Amino acid sequence: MQTFTSVKSLSDYLANCREKGLKIGFVPTMGALHSGHISLVELALTQNEVVVSSIFVNPTQFNDPSDFNRYPRQLKQDSLLLEEANCTVLFHPDVEEVYPAPDEEHYNLGAVAKRLEGEFRPGHFQGVASVVRRLLEMVKPDRAYFGQKDYQQLLVIKNMVKTFSLPVQIIGCATVRDQHGLALSSRNQLLKDEDRVTARALYQSLTLVKQAFANGQNSKLEALGRKFLGQQPGVQLEYFDIADASTLEHIGDRAIGKDQNPVALIAASVNGVRLIDNVKLRPL
Ligand code: AMP
Repeated sequence: MQTFTSVKSLSDYLANCREKGLKIGFVPTMGALHSGHISLVELALTQNEVVVSSIFVNPTQFNDPSDFNRYPRQLKQDSLLLEEANCTVLFHPDVEEVYPAPDEEHYNLGAVAKRLEGEFRPGHFQGVASVVRRLLEMVKPDRAYFGQKDYQQLLVIKNMVKTFSLPVQIIGCATVRDQHGLALSSRNQLLKDEDRVTARALYQSLTLVKQAFANGQNSKLEALGRKFLGQQPGVQLEYFDIADASTLEHIGDRAIGKDQNPVALIAASVNGVRLIDNVKLRPL
């Protein structure tokens, strides 16, 4: 695996790959890698000859400075994991390399960015759009891979790529979970053992609602999820939301139409650690 910290050396290396006609896949991350991240790298390796993974804890997408400061950082271990996965390139720039000047652009990210994370983490998607756009311009990949675990982020990025006509295909990848259903996340490292048990309630609420929908209940699903979570000690709910899977328009407790594709999304804190998850209610 080649490791680069400067845009210049990365660009030179990738220009050479492109000249040889090799396709480039890109997996942007903030590090503290787990099997979820590695699944993206593995999928990228099946579709591209060269796979670049970036590790950059992006300060502009954290609206809470303490969240940024305590975000886990473990470059050495991450580098070993990527190497083991046969990743071709690790790019880990510092802040000055990514932001030689602050990004003054205000991104119009459309309605998909307004609610949920957009509401509870003001400025978050501006930071995400800014860093993803910069990284895409640096790597110029043919395909870029994002997890459905961050469902709203995936939609926001697809939207931005369309708006700016960026020449890249965005590929959404399935959420990887532990044996209890908890979605893998770098933030899970901040949970104590008992918090991890408490955190299972997030996926339990999503599966409860999915099951109810499969059994024919097509309204009041948001209320069902919220009620369940309200009974879980140690879970501080921010939102439990039923929305249209393509627009994120709120469905809430209204009846879900036959041709509607609903998604249930949740954000909650467990012992001060903020977690998100989602499931689509219809079978894939
Ligand atoms: P992060 O390092 O949290 O910014 O995540 C980097 C990429 O990995 C994003 O596209 C995430 O959606 C994706 N990702 C994070 N956790 C998972 C997971 N459990 N399963 C699949 N993809 C994930």
